[in-house]
Amino acid sequence: MSANGKLLILSGDGIGPEVVRQVRRVIDWLARRRGVSFDVAEGLVGGAAIDADGVPLTDATLARAQEADAVLLGAVGGPKWDKIDFDRRPEAGLLRLRKDLGLFANLRPAMVMDALIDASPLKADIVRGLDIMIVRELTGGVYFGEPRGIRDLGDGVRQGLNTQVYTTPEIVRVAKVAFDLARQRKNSVCSVEKANVMESGRLWREEVTRLHAEEYSDVELSHMYADNCAMQLVRNPRQFDVIVTDNLFGDMLSDEAAMLTGSLGMLPSASLGQPDANGRRKALYEPVHGSAPDIAGRDVANPVAMLLSFTMMLRYSFGLNGEAEMIEQSIQKVLNGGMRTADVMAPGMARCSTTVMGDAILRALDKLHATTLAAA
Ligand code: NAD
Repeated sequence: MSANGKLLILSGDGIGPEVVRQVRRVIDWLARRRGVSFDVAEGLVGGAAIDADGVPLTDATLARAQEADAVLLGAVGGPKWDKIDFDRRPEAGLLRLRKDLGLFANLRPAMVMDALIDASPLKADIVRGLDIMIVRELTGGVYFGEPRGIRDLGDGVRQGLNTQVYTTPEIVRVAKVAFDLARQRKNSVCSVEKANVMESGRLWREEVTRLHAEEYSDVELSHMYADNCAMQLVRNPRQFDVIVTDNLFGDMLSDEAAMLTGSLGMLPSASLGQPDANGRRKALYEPVHGSAPDIAGRDVANPVAMLLSFTMMLRYSFGLNGEAEMIEQSIQKVLNGGMRTADVMAPGMARCSTTVMGDAILRALDKLHATTLAAA
């Protein structure tokens, strides 16, 4: 059986290795039952890499990430490494990975599964069936723009300065990611900026509008100011399919959208780079949550965010939509059946460990597979 692709797994710190373990079990299941196999390598990142090699990401690991079709990352960080200088901390390993792989588009889905509807801080009627995708520009804008710094203006006055700057190619490439995603979803993109008060926002709107007319007129496009979008996400979030926005607004709006689902342990993400001549993109998949040192090593973490990051990988790096769907359906089945890790526990449900949740998802996969075979 030839491998479907090259995968680098970086489990990282805290609950990272615990949740990644459940993905490894699903990878083994796919090889056994579906004939889908990956050439899997493992490496160290974050605190684990600091302990072993003195740096949060070695050049050798970075080189392996460059060669891989996709990188799957658990989480980095923890109190053990909190006193180290900022540029040598665990998080610096992750930032270097994102930067050196040129991952400019950050995809953050926010979905509300029926079984977890009560975990949302909003009324069930507002979030039932919610399924939105926020595409955030990740490598440009005000977090990177020059000039920047704090300068002394004399007479005891200091000035803090950051520059919001975007070029046409930066806007176009992230907008393309959003339009392409929309074509696989409900075919609708909302582009978000502040064109009313910012020139960079005006350029953003003009470029997205031009790209839409030239290459994506089959996709529905709307524009919204970022402050209105923040309100609409709470008032009527189901109006959105794909939202595309810059680095700063995306940082905030994606966290706001995440909270509509109410549970950090359920949220996956993907970061994508520019396609090469063969259409292959560098890609990193990781849960939104961190290393959760408060619960690490106790087999209580929710593995679903990590598993959903893996299903994003199956879809966007390998086109294995059928397998992704099977895993997502199995997760839904287990949750519908009342099993819950502690973070999403509710009255009347059965509390389970990370491993037991993994066992249940594998059993659901077995059942689904058997049904598919019987129907074939
Ligand atoms: P966190 O996401 O690790 O944890 C926040 C809270 O959510 C904790 O109470 C934790 O127990 C809970 N939680 C998180 N994931 C969970 C899961 N899968 N199942 C059940 N409960 C879960 O954020 P934090 O506490 O602010 O940060 C802890 C460490 O993680 C810090 O060192 C931080 O720098 C790092 N961090 C890393 C990443 C990353 O690797 N991408 C992201 C955020 C934070």
